[in-house]
Parts: sequence; structure tokens; C-alpha cells
Amino acid sequence: MELKHELITLPNGKTVKVETGLFIKNTFVESVDKKRFETINPTTEKVITTVAEASSKDVDLAVKAATEAFYNVWKLVDGKERGRLLNKLADLIERDLEELATLESLDNGQTLSTAKFIDVGQSIDCYRYFAGWADKIHGKPIGVCAAIIPWNFPILMQAWKMAPALACGNTIIIKPSEMTPLGALKIAALCKEAGFPEGVVNVLNGPGPITGDAIAKHMKIDKITFTGSNATGKSLLKAASESNLKQVSLELGGKSPNIIFADSNLDQAVKWAHMGIFFNHGQCCTAGSRVYVQDSIYDEFLTRFKVFTESNKVGDPFEADTYQGPQVSQMQFDRIMKYIECGKKEGATLVTGGERHGDQGYFIKPTIFTDVNEKMTIMQEEIFGPVVAISKFSTVEEVIEKAHLTKFGLAAAIFTNDLTKAIKLSNELRAGTIWVNCYNLVNSRLPFGGYKESGMGRDLSKYALDQYTQVKTVQINLE
Ligand code: NAD
Repeated sequence: MELKHELITLPNGKTVKVETGLFIKNTFVESVDKKRFETINPTTEKVITTVAEASSKDVDLAVKAATEAFYNVWKLVDGKERGRLLNKLADLIERDLEELATLESLDNGQTLSTAKFIDVGQSIDCYRYFAGWADKIHGKPIGVCAAIIPWNFPILMQAWKMAPALACGNTIIIKPSEMTPLGALKIAALCKEAGFPEGVVNVLNGPGPITGDAIAKHMKIDKITFTGSNATGKSLLKAASESNLKQVSLELGGKSPNIIFADSNLDQAVKWAHMGIFFNHGQCCTAGSRVYVQDSIYDEFLTRFKVFTESNKVGDPFEADTYQGPQVSQMQFDRIMKYIECGKKEGATLVTGGERHGDQGYFIKPTIFTDVNEKMTIMQEEIFGPVVAISKFSTVEEVIEKAHLTKFGLAAAIFTNDLTKAIKLSNELRAGTIWVNCYNLVNSRLPFGGYKESGMGRDLSKYALDQYTQVKTVQINLE
């Protein structure tokens, strides 16, 4: 039976229609077991609403719908039409941008401007970019894909997976993070409005160990595309190898080095390095969490960086002058506070922050550590919060060695006015993205993914098409 939407009142007084079911065959439904879970507003710690929770029974239903849609309908739809539908979806997201962004700020805690310009804004660009590829790829889909996505940019992560998968002719099941299910459901409603045939797009909410696990082990899912933690990425590979050897692509965490040379423009370096770590409250897989500053400018950099950091407002994500909202959940808040305590215990110097901001919501003051070394936990593990470690280096050789002393290789940045040095380091650093004199710039046209334990495969750009297509050889003897 079709589930009716709910009406939620937003902080600006407007009401918004929120879908709370599972989305299967273009219909919002309760789960087979009628189980539901709460989604929380991280600014107030209050429940926003409850959404249906998918068990393995619902995963079976969604896989059946996606399989039938793939063989009976979607495989026969030509690329031009797939592109038209993706463009239509982009237009509808653009129409509803304000509402979607507000919903994301509510559910995730990201500032309204980040939600508007990055999470939702870049999603529109991503759907349009891959719409353009749809009629340039012929007959190579994989089949039923599942995307298991995180909570840090919920609508954008959905776009990074769904846009290329659909452009290439696959059907898809999206499993949003249980922290932030509302955006994906709203996009599902827009897919229906855009005219995607039933079963092409499906959304299953639920916890990783239940819904995600059932997806990972399913025998009839052909491919999993994942963004999230290293540990979950490894468990997905294991599940794939022990079930039907489904294809897996992984975009995992990072501990990215940001290297600032004495010959850089210091004003610029301070601003970009700040954005590199504190953008989206440190909840970016590319976060520049290890800042290395050349010794001759170290003191000056640190003084300016501290002033800049302390001048940025932490608070309500809906207020226009807020830079940093709450962390996404109590669990993430606790994890980050544990890392901060660990940094202190292991002997790092706390320069600023290191504690809760306010008395309601999952807010953490932006935190700077110095006097760190590569053996410390805060220099090795992904904190995924507003915590940066700043240290000194003298030579290029020394900083390259230090930069490589983690298991990750997602991104790195270099600040210098010496082009030769920038190119040499870009070649040397083992990371999927290198930024020179900038940070955290991501573009649908450029590949995104990791070296080492930061992942397998690439999202975005034409390289993403390889993740959602396969090649078949047909030889015909005309004699
Ligand atoms: P996570 O890896 O546990 O969750 C990401 C997604 O995987 C979610 O949809 C979750 O439900 C699902 N999942 C979890 N366990 C699963 C399982 N056993 N089988 C199948 N699916 C499963 O990440 P998290 O708990 O949300 O965050 C923990 C840490 O992960 C963060 O602190 C951060 O270090 C990292 N993280 C990285 C990114 C990134 O963009 N690289 C994003 C979010 C989190």
C-alpha cells in the first residue's frame, strides 16, 4: 500500500513534504516487517521523524524490481532518452533547490549555504554532466547496481553514484546513511516525477549492519558502489567475495597532508588550509587534517591560522553568518571527542578548541593541535571532525616522507609559488587528487578517488563510466 508523505515545519516556518517510506517500483511503502527508525536533527538533538527500515526481505523486493526493470524496460531505453530523463531530474532538483537544501541542513546539520551550493548545487551539475554521456555509451551496462552512501553530503553522494549508473543503462538501489535518509527519499520522489520507469531507481533506508549487509551479500546484485569508512569498505569486499563476486568500487577515507612552503602566499595559504580542514565541520573524506608548514614561516602561519579559525562562527546552520554547524550525530560527536582526548594524552599541544560548543546540539569548537608526530593516533586515523594537526618541516624530501606515513592516499595539497616544486611534488605524492594553491575543489568533470587504502576505482568524470559498464566480445563468422 502506498505510504503518504508527512508534512514537516522547517525553521523558516515553511512546511515541506517529506517521504518516509522505502521507495520500490516508484512507490513509497512500509517495510515488510513494518519497522521504523528515527532521524535526528543534530542542531537540536530532537527527532525529526521516523522512516521505514528495510530488512533482507525488502532488499529482495527491491532487487526483484530493479532486475525486472533492467531486463524488461531500461535496457531497451536508448541513451538519448536516458539523458533526457537525467536532465529532467536535474531541472526538478533545481526547481526544489531551496526546499532540498533546507531539508539537508535539518537532517545533516550542514550550513544552508553548503547545502545549497555544494550538496544540492553540485548534484544538479553532476546529473547534467552524466546526462551528456548517456547517448555516447552503447550497450554496456552491468545490470543491478547498489550504492551504499554516507551522510556527509547525502544528496551529492547519491548523485555521484546514481548519475553515472543510470547514464550507462543500469538500474540502481540506493542505501542512504541511516543518519540522513530524508534527502535521498526526496530525490526518489523527483525521479518518479521526472518519468523514470518503475524499478529503475529504488531507495532502501536502514542501518549498515542490517540493510547494508543484506545488500552486500545479495546474490542478484551485480555491483556495489560505496563511499564511507575504510572498515566498512573492507567488509563489503569480503561480503562480495563470499557471495556472488559482485563488482565493488570503493571511495574510502583519508588523512590528507597539506604542505605549505615558505615561498607561498601566506594569506591565501591560511584561508585555503582553514577551508581544507574546517569546511563541512571536518566531515570531508579529503579533509586536510595534517598541515605541514615550512619552519621559517611556521610561527607566523600558526598565529594567523589560529586567529582565522577562532573568528569563524560555530552555531545554527540556518544563520547566514555561521561557518560551522553541528556534527552529524551523537556517535560522531563522541568519536571526535575521544580523538581529542587521545591527542592530549599522547602529548600533542592543544592550541585552541578541544571542547563542546554550547549546551545543545552536537557542536565541537574548531580544534588545533601542534607538537605532533606521525606515530600519534590523531596523525594516523581519520577523525572526520573539526580537528587539525599542524607540524613543521624543513626540506622537500622530509615532507614527502612524512606525507606518506599513513595508510591513506586520497588527496594532498601544496602551497608554493615555485611551479617546478609544485610539479615535482604532484608527481611524487601518492594521492588520487593533488591541489596546488587551493583545497577541496571538486568538479564533475575531474576524477575523484584514492590511492592505497583510500579506495578502488574513481567517481566522477569519464573515468566513472568504467565503474558502471562492462565489455562484451562478439565474433560473427559471416561465411
Ligand atoms: P560507515 O562506513 O559505517 O557508513 C557509510 C555507509 O555504509 C552507511 O550507509 C552505512 O549504513 C553503511 N554501512 C555501515 N556498515 C555496513 C555494513 N556492515 N555493511 C554494509 N553497509 C554498511 O561510516 P559511518 O559510521 O557513517 O562513519 C564512520 C567513519 O567513516 C567516519 O568517522 C569517517 O571516518 C568515515 N566516513 C568517511 C566518509 C567518506 O566520504 N570517505 C563518509 C562518511 C564516513
